[in-house]
Amino acid sequence: MDRKSGGRRFEPDRGLQGEDPRSVTTGGFDVYGRSDAAGTPGVGSGGVRVAGDLQFRWELSGSGGVTYRIADGTSEHETYIGYCTDALADLLYAMTGLYGNSSGERFSFDRESMETRWLLRRQGTDVAIAVFEFPDGGTSWGSADETGGTLLWRSVQPRGVLCHAVVEAADAVLREHGEAGYLEKWMRHPFPVAALQDLQRLHRREDGCRHERCRKGIGPTSNGTVP
Ligand SMILES: [Zn+2]
Repeated sequence: MDRKSGGRRFEPDRGLQGEDPRSVTTGGFDVYGRSDAAGTPGVGSGGVRVAGDLQFRWELSGSGGVTYRIADGTSEHETYIGYCTDALADLLYAMTGLYGNSSGERFSFDRESMETRWLLRRQGTDVAIAVFEFPDGGTSWGSADETGGTLLWRSVQPRGVLCHAVVEAADAVLREHGEAGYLEKWMRHPFPVAALQDLQRLHRREDGCRHERCRKGIGPTSNGTVP
C-alpha cells in the first residue's frame, strides 16, 4: 500500500539528525540527551517519562482535517492536519512497522506548505519519538535528514504504551463517526480499517496488553461495522 509519506526507514547506523541537544531548536520543550533516553524503565530522568501516562487524541474537525494531541505528562504537542493525505493510515502503518525488524519509522503529515515529520526510533522495548516541523514541505518532503527542521516534541515510550494510545485513539474515531461519517469528513480517504486491525492484532499479540479492549480485540469487525 502506498504509504504516502515516503515511508523511509532508518538506516541502522544513523541517529536522528539533531541528536545533540545543543544543535536543535527545542521550541521550549525539554530536550534530553542520548544517555537519558536509555534510562531504566519506569524511571524518568532528565525530563523523560517512561511510565504509561501517554495521552493521544485524534479529533476530526467539522470542516475536514484533524487536530491531534500527544502528551506524556511532561510536555505536549498538538497540531492540525488537513485531509489531503491519508494521515491516519500513515500513522497506523508507521506504528505497525515497529513490530517488524526495522530500527525505526519515519512519516510525515502534510500541513499545506508545512511538513510535520515524525521519527520513531526503537531503543530496545522503547520507542524514541521526535516530531519535527519544516516550514516549506515542498522542499523538505522526503529529505534525508532533519536539517532545516525544528524539533517540536520528543518523548521515549514503551512500544506497548505508544501503540495502545494510538489504537485507542483511532478506535475512538471509528466509534464516534463510523466509516460513513469518517469518509464524509475526510473525503479523499476512507477510514483505514485494515491498518487499525493490523496494529490491534500485533499490539495484542506482541505487547500482551492487559487492557480490556485490547484483550478482547474489540474494534472494527471484518465487514467494517462497529459492534
Ligand atoms: Zn492495549
